[in-house]
Amino acid sequence: MKQFTGSCQCGAVTYRMARPVAAWVCHCLDCQRMTASAYSFSMATPRATFHWTKGEPRTFTKTGDNGRASEQHFCADCGSWLATTSPAAPDAMIVRVGTLDDHAWIKPVSQAWASSALPWALLPGVPAIDRDATPEQAQKAMVAWQAAHPA
Ligand SMILES: [Zn+2]
Ligand SMILES: [Zn+2]
Repeated sequence: MKQFTGSCQCGAVTYRMARPVAAWVCHCLDCQRMTASAYSFSMATPRATFHWTKGEPRTFTKTGDNGRASEQHFCADCGSWLATTSPAAPDAMIVRVGTLDDHAWIKPVSQAWASSALPWALLPGVPAIDRDATPEQAQKAMVAWQAAHPA
């Protein structure tokens, strides 16, 4: 199976993972703060296929705009926000696309929390969801992502 690798800005923490199964942006206020920018760009991969290959991220638990707790994993040295895990989705590893070594081919297929998007930041042509994706919307996004990224 093809492996995908990535790292934080300073290189203290690296990882490898299987092919992502979906990618989306999130306009929630937490993501705006975590990125110190307009929105986050994330991808999902099965947690069993994800491995930290160098260093260990520091982790803190945050309760998000959706009211659910999640663990945020970041490099303690350079501060890069690498990944998120959540008890609500125990089989998924959510990884920040910008930390992947080769990420230019990855396009988002949905945008969450459009209700708190900066007015100029909504991506044209990408389906917008007011808050979090429902399981049905998440499933639809995975199908759309596979279609847009043939293996
Ligand atoms: Zn680092
Ligand atoms: Zn968010």
